[in-house]
Amino acid sequence: MSLTPVLLPHLIETVANAISTNAEEVTALDQVIGDGDHVINLQRGLNALMAQREELSQLDWVAAWQKMGMTLMSTIGGASGSLFGTLFVSMSKTAREQPINQKTFAAIFKAGVDAVKQRGKADAGEKTMLDVLIPVADYLQTAVADNVSLADVLATVPKVAIAGMESTRDMLATKGRASFLEERSLGHIDAGARTSQLMICAIVTILNQQ
Ligand code: ADP
Ligand code: MG
Repeated sequence: MSLTPVLLPHLIETVANAISTNAEEVTALDQVIGDGDHVINLQRGLNALMAQREELSQLDWVAAWQKMGMTLMSTIGGASGSLFGTLFVSMSKTAREQPINQKTFAAIFKAGVDAVKQRGKADAGEKTMLDVLIPVADYLQTAVADNVSLADVLATVPKVAIAGMESTRDMLATKGRASFLEERSLGHIDAGARTSQLMICAIVTILNQQ
């Protein structure tokens, strides 16, 4: 990973495009078991990042993740705002304590996901974005331990993210608005799991082109 986030503008644009392209589908999901505003919330955050993207690319990763987290927290709103914001702020905090490279990124991302778990008082299996974030974080850690090549990691991460997203379909929601529906939440994919998967897949597409 380069020391300066020169790729960030491209990453942010691609992530924002992925969410826009799939906006109707995700909104439909969120209308079934949420209140239908997840994409609008997220797009507010992504638009704010779009406006900051050149500025962000001048920072180092620690400062960029911190700024992104604060921006997401203050613009997204909803449950997801503080959760996505916490992910980046916590990644920044952990990255301050070690050099950033392929190996340490797994630990940095894991710390971010752990902070999301704490913040939302949720864990895997509760039909949320964590059902994508946790398996991806776990896979990255295993891949580092097993010395898996970057090419193989980039080939596998999308599969892990998609499997995690799909797994929410048959879960009973126990956190967030969907939990109010109890059994009626069964059979529907969680919107935050779908957007998390779309964003991760978009990031991997860019990294594959490098
Ligand atoms: P809100 O539910 O406040 O309207 P959003 O619609 O923006 O917020 O986001 C909803 C998404 O947030 C859900 O689809 C779910 O993935 C995620 N979510 C909600 N509560 C939690 C939680 N406690 N922990 C992790 N993720 C959560
Ligand atoms: Mg909502």
